[in-house]
Amino acid sequence: MNRRYRKTIIAGNWKMNKTLTETKAFAEELKPMLGKPKWCDVVLCVPAVNLQAAIRLFKDSRVSIGAETCHYESSGAYTGEIAPEMLKDLGVKYVIIGHSERRQYYNETDVTVNKKVKAALEAGLRPIVCVGESLEQRDMGVTLEFITYQVKCALAGVGADKMRHVVFAYEPIWAIGTGRTATAEQAAEVCETIRTVIRKLYGARVARTVTIQYGGSMNPKNAAELLSQPDIDGGLIGGASLKPEQFVEIVNAANQD
Ligand code: PEP
Repeated sequence: MNRRYRKTIIAGNWKMNKTLTETKAFAEELKPMLGKPKWCDVVLCVPAVNLQAAIRLFKDSRVSIGAETCHYESSGAYTGEIAPEMLKDLGVKYVIIGHSERRQYYNETDVTVNKKVKAALEAGLRPIVCVGESLEQRDMGVTLEFITYQVKCALAGVGADKMRHVVFAYEPIWAIGTGRTATAEQAAEVCETIRTVIRKLYGARVARTVTIQYGGSMNPKNAAELLSQPDIDGGLIGGASLKPEQFVEIVNAANQD
């Protein structure tokens, strides 16, 4: 973390979990435990059907609400899809773009990721852009090249003035939901590479303001070590964000004085 130049952000990704009733129960449990973290922003990305309720439930707290995906068009004949403008109008602040599950199961490509990043920024949302290599790519020794490619694709045509709203999440696919975490050194190397790519594209002053998270089985036990790396500015948390006490412990690890 480097709090001098950029925000630390701990974001939960609920995926396809929690009904409206469970969302209400979670909010009631989380809010008193969480208090008002001074050093980090807290985000919960929840299923689309729960967005409106989540915004209301966390209105008087430091928790911002995010969506898990969006479309790249602002309206039109796209049955079942949700436009960034619709999210913005609801009070949504963040949107996850290009999560590996979206890339794997819903044909998300580097091209659609780029379109969505631009559309989200245009609508006034903060995209949390996910990048990450497969185990095969890591074993073949092409991780840094692959991440560089993904980051460049995601940012094609994004102006420097928009970059302070962009968040990156480095999520090695082999670490998502597997209980297997990247070592702090592996995560640090990739997050540093992401910042180097941004520096080459936009210069050092822009690059140091961008929040870069790690995601992939982050939990209360490994959070502090991962967050102690200079280029890791927070976490995108799946499984552990579903349990209020675990999520709060990770926020506390990011919120040390
Ligand atoms: C994720 O899906 O973004 C994620 C990091 O999941 P988990 O924490 O469960 O590995």
